[in-house]
Order: sequence, then structure tokens, then C-alpha cells
Amino acid sequence: REVRVCVAASCQSSGSLPVLEALKSACDTQGAGSCKVKGVGCMGLCSAGPLVAVADKDCALNESVLYRDVTPDDAPDIMASVCSTPVERLRCPTDQPFFSRQQRIVLEHSGLIDPDSLRGYIAVGGYAALVRALTEMTPADVLREVTTSGLRGRGGGGYPTGLKWSTIAKMPPGQKYVVCNADEGDPGAFMDRAVLESDPHRVLEGMAIAAYAVGASKGYVYVRAEYPLAVERLETAIRKAKRAGFLGAKVADTQFAFEVEIRLGAGAFVCGEETALMASIEGLRGQPRPRPPYPAESGLWGCPTLINNVETFANIAPIIREGGDWFAAIGTEGSKGTKVFALAGKIKNTGLIEVPMGTSLRDIIEVIGGGIPDGRAFKAVQTGGPSGGCIPEAHLDIPVDYDSLKTLGTIMGSGGLIVMDETSCMVDVARFFMEFCMSESCGKCIPCRAGTWQMHALLDTLTKGRGTRADLALLEDLCDVVRATSLCGLGQTAPNPVLSTLRYFRDEYEAKLLGDA
Ligand code: SF4
Repeated sequence: REVRVCVAASCQSSGSLPVLEALKSACDTQGAGSCKVKGVGCMGLCSAGPLVAVADKDCALNESVLYRDVTPDDAPDIMASVCSTPVERLRCPTDQPFFSRQQRIVLEHSGLIDPDSLRGYIAVGGYAALVRALTEMTPADVLREVTTSGLRGRGGGGYPTGLKWSTIAKMPPGQKYVVCNADEGDPGAFMDRAVLESDPHRVLEGMAIAAYAVGASKGYVYVRAEYPLAVERLETAIRKAKRAGFLGAKVADTQFAFEVEIRLGAGAFVCGEETALMASIEGLRGQPRPRPPYPAESGLWGCPTLINNVETFANIAPIIREGGDWFAAIGTEGSKGTKVFALAGKIKNTGLIEVPMGTSLRDIIEVIGGGIPDGRAFKAVQTGGPSGGCIPEAHLDIPVDYDSLKTLGTIMGSGGLIVMDETSCMVDVARFFMEFCMSESCGKCIPCRAGTWQMHALLDTLTKGRGTRADLALLEDLCDVVRATSLCGLGQTAPNPVLSTLRYFRDEYEAKLLGDA
């Protein structure tokens, strides 16, 4: 049997490393025979951490005995229970909707394997998709499967992945690059961090398959320096994959070569924008540039460059393994597959979930997320981070997919969901996101540099109850100007939280006005 201890950042922050050590020592002293104690990636229910699962080898999370809020003092009891009765006082039911309503494709190995173990990854079928692609498929076959799957970029834009890959594959042979965008910066979002901390080889395998399909030989993972655990696990994974022949020259004994390097982001949100990200990799100041040319034609050092985010690459191995048709059968007409969301804010089950596209927001918040704590009422959910918007209760039955959310004036974004209850002031929420955009504006273009500052000042005045109707009108005008004239997505979408809160919660703005002036 196995005793799995979550050692992703969330559980580490609630004390899982001492629990791991205590369990290892209890295993030794209590002579638990062939039982193995190991650290694994994120199990999802971060609010109940440290989480420990006792399971038969290779059994999924829902087939295990799961323990919550474990302390080092609980280790002897847990070890004693491995081959006997579970410790009821620590039990966390795995048949609860939080687990049973999920469909894990990206997260299929999270919480199951040791992220630092290449052997563990291979044991669950890791790198089989890469070997299959290299030995049984042409690059055109790979492109066909990815196109058939209907996968769309999970970084927020939702651009069809197969189309993007095909554009780069069609560029003349020569130096091409593959870049994994792991510069996750939305407040409340931690999907990419969890995937890199839990299953780093999966991302590398997706990148290598992409490189084979488009004809690239060099890759970069651009990851936030604020994610030290993810960086450490990625470094280990790259080193081990290279030593085992899954990266480097002659990958899997073929003529295909693919090297991967890590580049650390220095904490600028705008570096998640792909032209700024490329400038940063090139050693330049991380500022966006106008497009076209698009990275597919002229990216890193002027060469065709494929940029996808962590979750997009993590979907590739299963698509090659199971086929594009299998993936396309999951989700909705326009949004295939699953989506990983980070649940944060005023919700009982904060953590990481993965659900089929088309699952309603109500199911995510009330059923999987367990609803709002302390008997309070739901007020809104923010999707898409500072580029997104707030959705009120009346629209909670909308299916979550790229196109439906746009009709509500928001976007799916990369997957952060921040839930707000009746105590949240929506004008203050808009001010918070505007403050974020103001401080993260790179300052290259005036509408964003000056506009976000002005809008923040107006929102600040309004939240303090000192704003007038003229201030509100000016705020709305500025939203239009900044949206229409900013150079990059940061400025173009900065007004979204204001516009969506004005659309659904205008009464809260009105209630704060000083009076007609
Ligand atoms: Fe920089 Fe903002 Fe202009 Fe983007 S919109 S280039 S972040 S100033």
C-alpha cells in the first residue's frame, strides 16, 4: 500500500513536510512492511490540507482513504490504520461532489505520483505519447490529432491550438521555438503552479510533441520566479528527462532533437503577454510590441515561435494517447475538453478542480465548491482575473465555456474563480482590480499608463462616498477610451471589471454618489 502526502505549495504552507517526515519515521518504527510513504502533487482540496491518502498502488484518489488537516502527531494512528480500520476522526470523504463531479485529464496524475520521480511518471504511461508520436506518426499526423481534438489555448484567449501549430509548421524550415507560458499572474489563480508542482514531466512531454509537430528544436519555459517549488521541480524534471533521452539530442533514439531551458520572470504581470514575454526571454525589457507580426511568423529573435500555456501543453499527451476524437467528445460544441479552475475567495472548498467544459457556474460554486461559508449569501464570481468580469447570481446557470462567458461581458481567462459573498462591495472589487492593472501597467502607451491611474483615482473617490454623477460618467468614458486605444491586452481589458460591475451592480455605484453635481 502507499501513503501519499501532498507536497504541493498549498499543503506545504499548511505543514505537510513535517507530516511527511513523521509518516516516514512512523513507517520505519511501526514496521509497516511493504508500505511506501511518498510525497505527491496537489490533490485539489487545498482548504483541507495537509492531505494524506492511503491507497493501493496506482489507485486513484477516489479509491483511497483520504485524511484531512493531518498533523505530525496523527502519523502513528495513520500508519496503524494502513492495514486495518481507517482513522475516522481524520476522514475526508472522497465520494463528496468536490471529487465525484470532476473529470481529471490535465490533473490525472496530480496527487498520485511523486513529481520528482521520472520512474513514477513512466509507470503511469508518461512519455508513451511522445515515443508514439516520434516513432509511429508524422508531424502532420500529430497536427491532425490536435486539430481534431478542438483544443483551444487555455491561457485565456481560446485560440484554436491546432490552427496555431499548423501556422508555425507551415513556416519555412529553420530555427523555430516552442515556449511554455508559465507566467501565471492573475490574482487568485494557481492552476499552472499546481500543474508544474504536481506533474512537470507532463508539460515537458507536451512541449516536445509540439516541437516535433512544428519542426522546432529549442524550447523555453517562462515561469515566475515567485514559484520556487515549481521551478525546482521543473529543473529536476528537465535534468532527468534529458538523462533518460526524452529531451536533448536524439530524443527516444530518433533523429528528433529538443532542448528545453527555464527562463525566470521577475514578477511583471505584463510579461504574461506573449510579445512582452518574448522580449524578456531575449534579455530585453519586458514590454509588449504591436502585432502583427505575430509570434508564429516572427517571434523569438525573429524566428517562428509557438507559445502555449502550461495547461494547453498538459492536454497534449492524452490527446495523442487517446486520439483527437476522444477529446472532442468531451465538453461543448465550441469548447472541447476540460478546464482547470482555481477556486478562491468566499467559498467553502477552496482549491483546484477540473471539470468538463460546459459545467455550469452554479455546479462549480454550489456543488463542487460547497457554496458560501458562514451562512452568507452569494453575490458574484469574478472570472478571468483583471481582464475578466463579475457574474451575478442571476447568471450562475450559464455553462462555462469560452463563448458563453463572453456574452456576459467576461472571459474564461486562465481559470481563476474568485467568489464574493454579500459582504463584498462591488465598487471596491472594481477598485482592487484597477489598482492591480495600474501598478502592473508597463507604461509604454499613454491610454493605459494614464488611464488606469485616472480610473483608479475615480474608483477610489467613489468607494469613499465622495464621488459625483459626473465622476461616474467620466469613469465610463475612460473605460471606452482605454479599451479602444491601449496597445496590449492588459490595457484593453483593464476596464472589464469596472464595466461588468457597472452592468450588474450599478445600484452599488449609485448608492455611493454624493448627489448630482
Ligand atoms: Fe504597457 Fe499598458 Fe500599453 Fe500594454 S496597454 S503596452 S501594459 S502601457
